[in-house]
Amino acid sequence: MHHFAYQDGQLKAEGVSLDQIASQVGTPTYVYSQATLTRHFQAFGQAFAGLDPLICFAVKANTNRAVMGLFASLGGGADIVSGGELYRALQAGVDPGRIVYSGVGKSEAEMEAALAAGILMFNLESVQELLVLDQVAGRLGVKAPVSLRVNPDVDAQTHPKITTGLAKNKFGLDVDLAFEQYRLMAGMPHLQIMGVSCHIGSQLTDVRPFADACERLAALVARLKAAGINLRVLDLGGGLGITYNDEVPPNPAQYAAALKQTVGRLGLRLVLEPGRVLVGNAGLLLCRVLYTKQTPAKRFIIVDAAMNDLVRPSFYDSYHAIWPVSQRPGEEAMVADVVGPICETGDFLARQRDLPAFERGQLMAIMSAGAYGFAMSSNYNSRPRAAEVLVNGDRFGVVRARETYEDLCRGESLPEWMR
Ligand SMILES: *Cc1c(COP(=O)(O)O)cnc(C)c1O
Repeated sequence: MHHFAYQDGQLKAEGVSLDQIASQVGTPTYVYSQATLTRHFQAFGQAFAGLDPLICFAVKANTNRAVMGLFASLGGGADIVSGGELYRALQAGVDPGRIVYSGVGKSEAEMEAALAAGILMFNLESVQELLVLDQVAGRLGVKAPVSLRVNPDVDAQTHPKITTGLAKNKFGLDVDLAFEQYRLMAGMPHLQIMGVSCHIGSQLTDVRPFADACERLAALVARLKAAGINLRVLDLGGGLGITYNDEVPPNPAQYAAALKQTVGRLGLRLVLEPGRVLVGNAGLLLCRVLYTKQTPAKRFIIVDAAMNDLVRPSFYDSYHAIWPVSQRPGEEAMVADVVGPICETGDFLARQRDLPAFERGQLMAIMSAGAYGFAMSSNYNSRPRAAEVLVNGDRFGVVRARETYEDLCRGESLPEWMR
Protein backbone atom coordinates (compact mmCIF):
# COMPACT_ATOMS: atom_id res chain seq x y z
CA MET A 1 0.00 0.00 0.00
CA HIS A 2 1.19 3.47 -0.80
CA HIS A 3 -0.18 6.97 -1.02
CA PHE A 4 0.41 7.67 -4.71
CA ALA A 5 -2.94 7.75 -6.48
CA TYR A 6 -4.90 9.50 -9.21
CA GLN A 7 -7.42 12.16 -8.42
CA ASP A 8 -9.33 13.58 -11.39
CA GLY A 9 -6.78 12.04 -13.70
CA GLN A 10 -3.83 13.69 -11.93
CA LEU A 11 -1.27 11.63 -10.04
CA LYS A 12 -0.77 12.85 -6.50
CA ALA A 13 1.61 12.04 -3.70
CA GLU A 14 -0.72 12.20 -0.71
CA GLY A 15 -2.36 15.62 -1.14
CA VAL A 16 0.23 17.13 -3.47
CA SER A 17 0.07 16.90 -7.24
CA LEU A 18 3.26 15.74 -8.89
CA ASP A 19 2.76 18.40 -11.50
CA GLN A 20 3.22 21.03 -8.81
CA ILE A 21 6.40 19.38 -7.54
CA ALA A 22 7.80 19.22 -11.07
CA SER A 23 7.11 22.86 -11.74
CA GLN A 24 8.61 24.02 -8.46
CA VAL A 25 11.54 21.63 -8.08
CA GLY A 26 12.17 20.49 -11.64
CA THR A 27 12.90 16.98 -12.88
CA PRO A 28 14.22 14.37 -12.36
CA THR A 29 13.14 14.33 -8.71
CA TYR A 30 12.65 11.56 -6.19
CA VAL A 31 9.37 11.96 -4.31
CA TYR A 32 8.75 10.15 -1.01
CA SER A 33 5.50 9.90 0.91
CA GLN A 34 5.81 10.35 4.65
CA ALA A 35 2.44 8.67 5.32
CA THR A 36 3.60 5.61 3.39
CA LEU A 37 6.98 5.47 5.14
CA THR A 38 5.26 5.75 8.51
CA ARG A 39 2.66 3.14 7.66
CA HIS A 40 5.29 0.67 6.43
CA PHE A 41 7.41 1.14 9.53
CA GLN A 42 4.47 0.69 11.86
CA ALA A 43 3.04 -2.31 10.01
CA PHE A 44 6.42 -3.98 10.25
CA GLY A 45 6.67 -3.33 13.97
CA GLN A 46 3.10 -4.42 14.67
CA ALA A 47 3.68 -7.70 12.86
CA PHE A 48 6.23 -8.60 15.52
CA ALA A 49 4.17 -7.26 18.43
CA GLY A 50 4.91 -9.16 21.60
CA LEU A 51 8.52 -9.75 20.61
CA ASP A 52 9.45 -6.08 21.03
CA PRO A 53 11.81 -6.04 18.05
CA LEU A 54 14.39 -3.35 17.42
CA ILE A 55 13.87 -2.29 13.82
CA CYS A 56 17.17 -1.13 12.40
CA PHE A 57 16.39 0.39 9.00
CA ALA A 58 19.01 -0.71 6.47
CA VAL A 59 20.03 2.78 5.53
CA LYS A 60 21.84 1.79 2.37
CA ALA A 61 18.38 1.49 0.79
CA ASN A 62 17.68 5.18 1.30
CA THR A 63 20.22 7.39 3.01
CA ASN A 64 18.28 10.61 3.04
CA ARG A 65 18.44 12.20 6.47
CA ALA A 66 14.73 13.02 6.50
CA VAL A 67 13.85 9.38 5.83
CA MET A 68 16.30 8.01 8.42
CA GLY A 69 15.24 10.67 10.89
CA LEU A 70 11.57 9.82 10.41
CA PHE A 71 12.20 6.17 11.28
CA ALA A 72 14.33 7.22 14.24
CA SER A 73 11.47 9.38 15.51
CA LEU A 74 9.23 6.31 15.28
CA GLY A 75 11.63 4.36 17.50
CA GLY A 76 13.77 2.73 14.84
CA GLY A 77 17.50 2.29 14.65
CA ALA A 78 19.86 1.86 11.73
CA ASP A 79 21.74 -0.95 10.06
CA ILE A 80 24.85 0.62 8.58
CA VAL A 81 27.57 -0.75 6.32
CA SER A 82 30.15 2.06 6.29
CA GLY A 83 31.60 4.97 8.23
CA GLY A 84 29.72 7.29 5.90
CA GLU A 85 26.44 5.68 6.85
CA LEU A 86 27.38 5.96 10.52
CA TYR A 87 27.98 9.66 10.03
CA ARG A 88 24.68 10.14 8.22
CA ALA A 89 22.73 8.11 10.76
CA LEU A 90 24.14 10.17 13.64
CA GLN A 91 23.40 13.38 11.72
CA ALA A 92 19.83 12.18 11.25
CA GLY A 93 19.44 11.75 14.99
CA VAL A 94 19.51 7.95 15.15
CA ASP A 95 20.30 6.77 18.69
CA PRO A 96 23.77 5.17 18.51
CA GLY A 97 22.52 2.52 20.94
CA ARG A 98 20.23 1.41 18.12
CA ILE A 99 22.84 1.11 15.40
CA VAL A 100 24.15 -2.21 14.12
CA TYR A 101 27.14 -2.25 11.82
CA SER A 102 27.26 -4.94 9.11
CA GLY A 103 29.52 -5.51 6.11
CA VAL A 104 32.55 -7.59 5.15
CA GLY A 105 35.11 -4.80 4.97
CA LYS A 106 35.10 -2.41 7.91
CA SER A 107 38.32 -0.41 8.12
CA GLU A 108 40.08 0.29 11.43
CA ALA A 109 39.11 3.96 11.17
CA GLU A 110 35.47 2.97 10.69
CA MET A 111 35.65 0.64 13.68
CA GLU A 112 37.11 3.42 15.81
CA ALA A 113 34.36 5.84 14.81
CA ALA A 114 31.65 3.29 15.60
CA LEU A 115 33.20 2.45 18.97
CA ALA A 116 33.49 6.12 19.82
CA ALA A 117 29.85 6.63 18.91
CA GLY A 118 28.81 3.74 21.17
CA ILE A 119 26.85 1.61 18.68
CA LEU A 120 24.75 -1.37 19.77
CA MET A 121 26.89 -3.95 18.01
CA PHE A 122 29.15 -4.92 15.17
CA ASN A 123 28.07 -7.81 12.97
CA LEU A 124 31.41 -9.39 12.16
CA GLU A 125 31.94 -11.38 9.01
CA SER A 126 35.41 -12.90 9.18
CA VAL A 127 38.02 -14.22 11.60
CA GLN A 128 40.50 -11.51 10.67
CA GLU A 129 37.95 -8.79 11.22
CA LEU A 130 37.31 -10.09 14.71
CA LEU A 131 41.02 -10.03 15.59
CA VAL A 132 41.37 -6.51 14.25
CA LEU A 133 38.34 -5.24 16.15
CA ASP A 134 39.71 -6.73 19.36
CA GLN A 135 42.94 -4.76 18.80
CA VAL A 136 41.16 -1.54 17.89
CA ALA A 137 38.91 -1.76 20.95
CA GLY A 138 41.98 -2.49 23.08
CA ARG A 139 43.68 0.65 21.78
CA LEU A 140 40.66 2.70 22.75
CA GLY A 141 40.37 0.94 26.10
CA VAL A 142 36.81 -0.27 25.47
CA LYS A 143 34.99 -3.53 24.87
CA ALA A 144 33.45 -3.90 21.41
CA PRO A 145 29.94 -5.40 21.38
CA VAL A 146 29.87 -8.07 18.69
CA SER A 147 27.68 -10.55 16.91
CA LEU A 148 28.89 -12.92 14.27
CA ARG A 149 27.14 -12.84 10.95
CA VAL A 150 26.41 -16.41 10.06
CA ASN A 151 26.02 -17.52 6.47
CA PRO A 152 23.29 -20.15 6.89
CA ASP A 153 23.69 -21.48 3.33
CA VAL A 154 20.05 -21.16 2.32
CA ASP A 155 18.90 -20.33 -1.19
CA ALA A 156 16.97 -17.08 -1.03
CA GLN A 157 15.67 -17.69 -4.60
CA THR A 158 16.23 -14.13 -5.64
CA HIS A 159 18.35 -12.32 -8.25
CA PRO A 160 21.96 -13.64 -8.08
CA LYS A 161 23.30 -10.12 -7.47
CA ILE A 162 21.24 -9.79 -4.28
CA THR A 163 21.51 -13.25 -2.77
CA THR A 164 23.88 -13.20 0.21
CA GLY A 165 23.25 -16.34 2.25
CA LEU A 166 24.72 -19.03 0.02
CA ALA A 167 27.97 -20.75 0.94
CA LYS A 168 29.60 -19.32 -2.20
CA ASN A 169 28.69 -15.70 -1.29
CA LYS A 170 31.25 -13.42 0.36
CA PHE A 171 29.08 -12.76 3.42
CA GLY A 172 29.28 -14.16 6.92
CA LEU A 173 30.88 -17.21 8.51
CA ASP A 174 29.61 -20.74 8.12
CA VAL A 175 27.88 -22.17 11.18
CA ASP A 176 30.72 -24.46 12.32
CA LEU A 177 33.38 -21.81 11.94
CA ALA A 178 31.14 -19.35 13.79
CA PHE A 179 30.76 -21.83 16.65
CA GLU A 180 34.55 -22.10 17.01
CA GLN A 181 34.95 -18.32 16.86
CA TYR A 182 32.43 -17.74 19.65
CA ARG A 183 34.51 -20.02 21.86
CA LEU A 184 37.65 -18.05 21.00
CA MET A 185 35.90 -14.72 21.45
CA ALA A 186 34.82 -15.65 24.94
CA GLY A 187 38.50 -15.41 25.83
CA MET A 188 39.28 -12.21 23.94
CA PRO A 189 39.70 -9.25 26.29
CA HIS A 190 38.21 -6.47 24.21
CA LEU A 191 35.20 -8.16 22.68
CA GLN A 192 31.82 -8.54 24.30
CA ILE A 193 29.63 -11.23 22.78
CA MET A 194 26.17 -9.84 22.04
CA GLY A 195 24.50 -12.22 19.66
CA VAL A 196 24.26 -13.71 16.22
CA SER A 197 23.10 -12.20 12.95
CA CYS A 198 22.32 -13.18 9.37
CA HIS A 199 21.05 -11.56 6.21
CA ILE A 200 20.34 -13.98 3.40
CA GLY A 201 19.46 -11.72 0.52
CA SER A 202 17.14 -9.07 -0.78
CA GLN A 203 13.75 -8.98 -2.51
CA LEU A 204 12.71 -12.37 -1.12
CA THR A 205 9.19 -13.34 -2.07
CA ASP A 206 8.84 -16.51 -0.03
CA VAL A 207 9.02 -16.99 3.75
CA ARG A 208 10.63 -20.42 3.52
CA PRO A 209 14.27 -19.25 3.29
CA PHE A 210 13.76 -16.84 6.19
CA ALA A 211 12.32 -19.62 8.33
CA ASP A 212 15.14 -22.00 7.34
CA ALA A 213 17.80 -19.42 8.21
CA CYS A 214 16.11 -18.68 11.52
CA GLU A 215 16.07 -22.40 12.38
CA ARG A 216 19.77 -22.71 11.60
CA LEU A 217 20.58 -19.75 13.80
CA ALA A 218 18.42 -21.15 16.57
CA ALA A 219 20.32 -24.42 16.41
CA LEU A 220 23.59 -22.51 16.74
CA VAL A 221 22.24 -20.53 19.69
CA ALA A 222 21.33 -23.82 21.43
CA ARG A 223 24.74 -25.32 20.68
CA LEU A 224 26.45 -22.27 22.14
CA LYS A 225 24.27 -22.36 25.21
CA ALA A 226 25.27 -25.98 25.79
CA ALA A 227 28.89 -24.81 25.57
CA GLY A 228 28.24 -22.15 28.21
CA ILE A 229 28.00 -19.19 25.84
CA ASN A 230 24.80 -17.24 26.25
CA LEU A 231 23.75 -14.80 23.55
CA ARG A 232 21.48 -11.80 24.08
CA VAL A 233 20.57 -10.70 20.56
CA LEU A 234 19.16 -12.44 17.52
CA ASP A 235 19.48 -10.29 14.39
CA LEU A 236 17.62 -11.77 11.43
CA GLY A 237 18.66 -9.14 8.89
CA GLY A 238 16.40 -7.75 6.18
CA GLY A 239 15.41 -8.92 2.74
CA LEU A 240 11.64 -8.98 2.65
CA GLY A 241 10.54 -8.30 -0.92
CA ILE A 242 7.99 -5.88 -2.33
CA THR A 243 5.64 -5.81 -5.30
CA TYR A 244 7.28 -4.13 -8.27
CA ASN A 245 5.15 -5.83 -10.90
CA ASP A 246 3.27 -9.04 -10.15
CA GLU A 247 5.36 -10.45 -7.31
CA VAL A 248 3.34 -11.57 -4.29
CA PRO A 249 5.76 -11.28 -1.37
CA PRO A 250 4.65 -12.25 2.12
CA ASN A 251 3.26 -9.29 4.01
CA PRO A 252 4.99 -8.35 7.27
CA ALA A 253 2.43 -10.32 9.30
CA GLN A 254 3.09 -13.50 7.30
CA TYR A 255 6.82 -12.91 7.53
CA ALA A 256 6.56 -12.47 11.30
CA ALA A 257 4.34 -15.52 11.66
CA ALA A 258 6.97 -17.68 9.98
CA LEU A 259 9.60 -16.59 12.50
CA LYS A 260 7.70 -15.92 15.69
CA GLN A 261 7.66 -19.39 17.15
CA THR A 262 11.38 -19.99 16.78
CA VAL A 263 12.25 -16.49 17.95
CA GLY A 264 9.88 -16.62 20.92
CA ARG A 265 11.35 -19.91 22.09
CA LEU A 266 14.88 -18.47 22.19
CA GLY A 267 14.00 -15.49 24.34
CA LEU A 268 16.66 -13.24 22.78
CA ARG A 269 16.33 -9.56 21.90
CA LEU A 270 15.11 -9.52 18.31
CA VAL A 271 16.77 -7.17 15.83
CA LEU A 272 15.52 -6.79 12.26
CA GLU A 273 17.16 -4.91 9.41
CA PRO A 274 14.47 -4.16 6.83
CA GLY A 275 15.41 -1.84 3.98
CA ARG A 276 13.48 -2.21 0.75
CA VAL A 277 10.18 -3.17 2.36
CA LEU A 278 10.04 0.10 4.31
CA VAL A 279 10.98 2.51 1.55
CA GLY A 280 10.65 0.84 -1.87
CA ASN A 281 7.02 1.61 -2.57
CA ALA A 282 7.11 4.84 -0.61
CA GLY A 283 9.04 6.63 -3.35
CA LEU A 284 8.88 7.33 -7.06
CA LEU A 285 11.14 9.01 -9.57
CA LEU A 286 9.43 11.90 -11.31
CA CYS A 287 10.80 12.74 -14.74
CA ARG A 288 9.81 14.45 -17.97
CA VAL A 289 9.67 13.18 -21.52
CA LEU A 290 12.29 14.93 -23.63
CA TYR A 291 11.64 13.24 -26.97
CA THR A 292 9.92 10.29 -28.53
CA LYS A 293 11.40 8.49 -31.46
CA GLN A 294 10.38 5.67 -33.73
CA THR A 295 13.12 3.58 -35.26
CA PRO A 296 12.52 0.74 -37.74
CA ALA A 297 12.79 -1.62 -34.77
CA LYS A 298 11.20 0.17 -31.86
CA ARG A 299 9.54 3.13 -30.26
CA PHE A 300 11.66 4.96 -27.69
CA ILE A 301 10.56 7.42 -25.06
CA ILE A 302 13.57 9.49 -24.01
CA VAL A 303 13.20 11.01 -20.55
CA ASP A 304 15.35 13.31 -18.42
CA ALA A 305 16.07 10.59 -15.84
CA ALA A 306 18.68 7.97 -16.60
CA MET A 307 20.63 5.01 -15.29
CA ASN A 308 22.73 7.37 -13.18
CA ASP A 309 19.54 8.30 -11.32
CA LEU A 310 18.02 4.81 -11.12
CA VAL A 311 20.43 2.02 -11.97
CA ARG A 312 18.22 -0.91 -10.94
CA PRO A 313 16.83 -1.71 -14.41
CA SER A 314 20.32 -1.76 -15.96
CA PHE A 315 22.03 -3.44 -13.04
CA TYR A 316 19.47 -6.02 -11.91
CA ASP A 317 17.07 -6.11 -14.87
CA SER A 318 14.49 -4.75 -12.48
CA TYR A 319 10.94 -3.89 -13.35
CA HIS A 320 9.54 -0.51 -12.36
CA ALA A 321 5.97 0.38 -13.26
CA ILE A 322 5.65 3.50 -15.39
CA TRP A 323 2.69 5.81 -14.78
CA PRO A 324 1.73 9.00 -16.57
CA VAL A 325 1.30 11.96 -14.22
CA SER A 326 -1.73 13.10 -16.25
CA GLN A 327 -4.08 10.42 -17.46
CA ARG A 328 -5.59 10.93 -20.87
CA PRO A 329 -8.68 8.77 -21.08
CA GLY A 330 -9.33 6.68 -24.15
CA GLU A 331 -5.68 6.60 -25.15
CA GLU A 332 -4.39 3.42 -26.73
CA ALA A 333 -1.33 1.71 -25.28
CA MET A 334 1.82 1.54 -27.40
CA VAL A 335 4.81 -0.68 -26.88
CA ALA A 336 7.94 1.34 -26.10
CA ASP A 337 11.26 1.43 -24.30
CA VAL A 338 11.83 4.21 -21.77
CA VAL A 339 15.44 5.35 -21.97
CA GLY A 340 17.62 8.12 -20.58
CA PRO A 341 20.10 10.52 -22.17
CA ILE A 342 23.22 8.57 -21.12
CA CYS A 343 25.52 7.24 -23.80
CA GLU A 344 25.12 3.58 -22.96
CA THR A 345 22.84 1.00 -24.52
CA GLY A 346 22.26 -0.21 -20.98
CA ASP A 347 20.69 3.11 -20.09
CA PHE A 348 17.03 2.13 -19.91
CA LEU A 349 14.30 2.41 -17.31
CA ALA A 350 11.76 0.11 -18.93
CA ARG A 351 11.76 -2.17 -21.95
CA GLN A 352 9.02 -3.40 -24.25
CA ARG A 353 6.23 -1.95 -22.18
CA ASP A 354 2.64 -1.22 -23.03
CA LEU A 355 2.53 2.48 -22.24
CA PRO A 356 0.28 5.44 -22.98
CA ALA A 357 1.38 7.51 -25.97
CA PHE A 358 3.72 9.70 -23.96
CA GLU A 359 4.62 12.91 -25.78
CA ARG A 360 7.38 15.45 -25.42
CA GLY A 361 6.93 17.51 -22.26
CA GLN A 362 4.71 15.05 -20.41
CA LEU A 363 5.57 13.99 -16.88
CA MET A 364 6.21 10.37 -15.99
CA ALA A 365 6.39 8.59 -12.64
CA ILE A 366 8.75 5.65 -12.32
CA MET A 367 7.18 3.77 -9.45
CA SER A 368 8.66 1.79 -6.54
CA ALA A 369 11.87 3.81 -6.63
CA GLY A 370 12.23 4.58 -2.93
CA ALA A 371 14.76 1.81 -2.25
CA TYR A 372 18.16 1.57 -3.92
CA GLY A 373 17.15 4.50 -6.12
CA PHE A 374 18.80 7.77 -5.16
CA ALA A 375 21.14 5.85 -2.87
CA MET A 376 22.73 4.11 -5.86
CA SER A 377 22.77 7.17 -8.10
CA SER A 378 25.95 8.57 -9.58
CA ASN A 379 27.21 11.49 -11.62
CA TYR A 380 27.98 9.43 -14.73
CA ASN A 381 27.95 11.56 -17.89
CA SER A 382 28.39 14.55 -15.55
CA ARG A 383 24.76 14.56 -14.64
CA PRO A 384 24.01 16.37 -11.39
CA ARG A 385 22.15 14.08 -9.02
CA ALA A 386 18.38 14.49 -8.72
CA ALA A 387 16.54 16.42 -6.03
CA GLU A 388 14.66 14.56 -3.30
CA VAL A 389 11.31 15.69 -1.97
CA LEU A 390 9.32 14.51 1.04
CA VAL A 391 5.54 14.91 0.95
CA ASN A 392 3.48 15.12 4.12
CA GLY A 393 -0.26 15.57 3.55
CA ASP A 394 -0.74 18.79 1.61
CA ARG A 395 2.83 19.92 2.11
CA PHE A 396 6.14 19.03 0.57
CA GLY A 397 9.71 19.93 1.30
CA VAL A 398 12.93 19.52 -0.64
CA VAL A 399 15.00 17.16 1.50
CA ARG A 400 17.97 17.21 -0.83
CA ALA A 401 18.64 19.95 -3.34
CA ARG A 402 19.37 19.08 -6.92
CA GLU A 403 23.11 19.09 -7.48
CA THR A 404 24.63 21.94 -9.43
CA TYR A 405 27.39 21.96 -12.03
CA GLU A 406 29.71 23.39 -9.35
CA ASP A 407 28.96 20.32 -7.23
CA LEU A 408 30.22 18.16 -10.09
CA CYS A 409 33.71 19.65 -9.91
CA ARG A 410 33.90 20.02 -6.15
CA GLY A 411 37.18 18.69 -4.80
CA GLU A 412 38.88 18.54 -8.18
CA SER A 413 42.09 20.48 -8.72
CA LEU A 414 44.96 20.58 -11.15
CA PRO A 415 48.37 19.32 -10.10
CA GLU A 416 50.85 22.12 -9.61
CA TRP A 417 52.65 21.41 -12.94
CA MET A 418 49.47 22.06 -14.95
CA ARG A 419 48.48 25.31 -13.37
C1 LIG B 1 21.12 -4.67 2.39
C2 LIG B 1 21.04 -5.21 3.74
C3 LIG B 1 19.84 -5.23 4.44
C4 LIG B 1 18.54 -4.74 3.85
O1 LIG B 1 18.08 -5.53 2.81
P1 LIG B 1 16.65 -5.26 2.17
O2 LIG B 1 16.50 -6.31 1.15
O3 LIG B 1 16.67 -3.90 1.59
O4 LIG B 1 15.66 -5.38 3.27
C5 LIG B 1 19.83 -5.69 5.73
N1 LIG B 1 20.97 -6.15 6.31
C6 LIG B 1 22.15 -6.17 5.67
C7 LIG B 1 23.35 -6.68 6.36
C8 LIG B 1 22.23 -5.72 4.37
O5 LIG B 1 23.40 -5.73 3.73
